[in-house]
Amino acid sequence: MDLRLFKNIVILTGAGISAESGIRTFRDQDGLWEEHRIEDVATPEAFARDPKLVQRFYNLRRAQLKDPKIQPNPAHLALAELERLWEGDFLLVTQNVDNLHRRAGSSHLLHMHGRLDKVFCLHCDEHYEWNEDLAVDQSCEACGRKGGVRPDIVWFGEMPHHMEEIYAALDKADYFISIGTSGNVHPAAGFVRLAWKAKKIEINLKDTEISPSFDAHFVGPASTEVPRFIKELLE
Ligand code: NAD
Ligand code: ZN
Repeated sequence: MDLRLFKNIVILTGAGISAESGIRTFRDQDGLWEEHRIEDVATPEAFARDPKLVQRFYNLRRAQLKDPKIQPNPAHLALAELERLWEGDFLLVTQNVDNLHRRAGSSHLLHMHGRLDKVFCLHCDEHYEWNEDLAVDQSCEACGRKGGVRPDIVWFGEMPHHMEEIYAALDKADYFISIGTSGNVHPAAGFVRLAWKAKKIEINLKDTEISPSFDAHFVGPASTEVPRFIKELLE
């Protein structure tokens, strides 16, 4: 029996893991996300100022998930397979708001920045699944009031989800793997330092600002490097 499999693993993914599935990252385009400045579409202030623009932006992102061309790639699938084989604690934390990890079959999965396919109501705080466009005057499925339904996305300046659970997992992690994330967005960029006893591995197309904090690097596209890393890990 291979005792290594009883160790605890935490995996953090970012926009880079979904890039080869056809969903664009943002830092790669001069800090723009699909031609928009982050402060115009991904802050509570932007939503208060121009709800129409913000709803339209997320409607397009949400609709893209229904495009038959957008599918989980070999990196998402390899992580789902690793979860099935792993005998220690396994936690996948994603900064992504797409649904590709779930579609690949991952289940010990936390969306720290929310999900495109969920919304919540500013009037009654009900959170629910939503796969259609959202209108600015959408009535809430739970309380019926209009105008308060927004994407269940963590915007800049808002508190990420599941942080207690994530910090507890990092504290006892034996492996910490960071995939396709720039290391620019906090608090996720600081996870590598909190995984104090873990062997730390970074998988990315290129070096990042936080590369020096890792023990090993797999440099290249996630769709080939993630399956390659997992094969080595299990051997
Ligand atoms: P980022 O856009 O800041 O950085 C992407 C990183 O992925 C870069 O380091 C880049 O070198 C790397 N990368 C690009 N293509 C890759 C590939 N094929 N293989 C391996 N690595 C690759 O992404 P971030 O650090 O996740 O921060 C972006 C924030 O924006 C997140 O918080 C997220 O919520 C949001 N966002 C989400 C999505 C999504 O859900 N798919 C897409 C864009 C932005
Ligand atoms: Zn409501």
